[in-house]
Amino acid sequence: MIKNIGHIVKGKYLFEKKKNLDIYNPSTGKIISTASNASNATIEKTLKSSVEAFNKWKSYSIAKRSSILFEYKVLLEKNINKIAKIISKDLGKVHDDAVGEVRRGIENVEYACGIGEILKGEFNRNISTTVDSWSEFSPLGVVLGITPFNFPAMVPLWMFPLAIATGNSFILKPSEKDPLASMFIVELFNQTEAPKGLLNLLNGDRDVVSSLIKDERVNAVSFVGSTPVAKSVYELSAVSGKRCQALGGAKNHALILPDADIDYTTDQLISAAFGSSGQRCMALSVAVVFSSVKKRFLESLQNKVSKLKFGLDNLNSNSFGPLVSKEHLESVENYIQMSEEEGARILMDGRISMKRKNSTSGYFLGPTIIDNVKSNMKSYQNEIFGPVLQVIEVDEINEAIKLINKSKFGNGCCVFTSSGKNARSFSENVEIGMVGVNIPLPVPSSFHSFGGWKNSLFGDLNIYGPDGVRFYTQRKTITQRWPSSGSSQGVDLSMPSNLKQ
Ligand code: NAD
Repeated sequence: MIKNIGHIVKGKYLFEKKKNLDIYNPSTGKIISTASNASNATIEKTLKSSVEAFNKWKSYSIAKRSSILFEYKVLLEKNINKIAKIISKDLGKVHDDAVGEVRRGIENVEYACGIGEILKGEFNRNISTTVDSWSEFSPLGVVLGITPFNFPAMVPLWMFPLAIATGNSFILKPSEKDPLASMFIVELFNQTEAPKGLLNLLNGDRDVVSSLIKDERVNAVSFVGSTPVAKSVYELSAVSGKRCQALGGAKNHALILPDADIDYTTDQLISAAFGSSGQRCMALSVAVVFSSVKKRFLESLQNKVSKLKFGLDNLNSNSFGPLVSKEHLESVENYIQMSEEEGARILMDGRISMKRKNSTSGYFLGPTIIDNVKSNMKSYQNEIFGPVLQVIEVDEINEAIKLINKSKFGNGCCVFTSSGKNARSFSENVEIGMVGVNIPLPVPSSFHSFGGWKNSLFGDLNIYGPDGVRFYTQRKTITQRWPSSGSSQGVDLSMPSNLKQ
């Protein structure tokens, strides 16, 4: 029998009568579980418990919060393989890749464990004569997190450990396509000493999201997903008076300069273009290559890509799995078709290699390389989000930078070069939020913050790291004087200033 997964509210599983969301194993195309859109009654119960837990959590010392997060880190470490297995089943990510995702998530818990250090305020003694002033950072209350399908453990871990460490309670609404790993990491959190209800999880789709954003008990919204949804979540949050950070989609370019080490470059580029079947917001999906090295580059690329393994039987670190759903597979295939119709040349066709494997089940697509791509093609301008690498030829570094800067997205990019001068010029002039120099996936560590420019991020603060701390807190500035007796100088209606005092 197919199991309904319910929601997690106040530390317990809660089930609805109506089941309306099927969850598939993308490697087999079979339904593995069902979920339900959270009903109004469930949403109400959740919000009540989130507010109650926030009120309790406020009185926990920072040291206690930190020790609970440390307890959680240990639980995640212990269960890393189990979490990865759930991700493989629910999303089709190969095991080693799934383990890597969980490890990157745990780094954010480690950062949050140091909350005592991170949350220190700012203090000035005698800022005005006999006046002291300091700023401290207070929690917001109930924070909502909405996450995408492609990192069901890592992206929630970008959000809730820091939101909770800074004193908030958190409601997670994971992707309806693969919520199982998100549920498991919430279940693990509920095994710590944290008050029940501090971290709740509601399943559902857009309707659940908009009910939650509109509710006055929700104080802030962290969103990660596609650009159109990020924009609409940001707009709804703004009109509802909520603080919001909404991270969107991407189209990430790799510039290959003539002085790059081609062997190193193609190794790195292949990992970043085809890892997770290209379903990463930092995946390198466009290779911008100088014409003088293009032939050598493409030969090396094709030679290595032809050895990649994909499909049901090859789920190890040198292989890749399926796309998340039938609809997504069709969307990626449509973009390949569109590229052909727009005049690009398919060098390696994942649709054909997949047919050769004679696979009938699962949402697999082989690695695809498309050459002669031009910047006016629709298939280039949009995010494809699959194992597809598009190749564009250039003759000059400024031409490449201009091309990259014209993209409506601004998430990540990378330059492959052995010249410090060129690398410096590239990173200085490219209008992109995260830049790699010979690093194909420049995902910042948890000590920094993650976020793109342009249509890749709506909001003022990046996610996790120092910006995450600012996002989940509000500044309070206290100015104080303890007058000694008899020091009154009488009433003065003019604006107080230091010179007068
Ligand atoms: P998506 O936008 O379809 O869904 C993301 C979340 O929003 C899900 O929880 C979904 O239920 C919810 N949602 C969907 N439609 C909604 C609506 N109209 N109103 C409110 N909520 C809605 O994204 P996806 O397909 O799950 O994920 C892939 C996308 O996420 C890609 O575009 C990828 O680039 C992007 N992504 C971005 C980052 C980043 O850091 N910038 C990271 C990971 C993924």
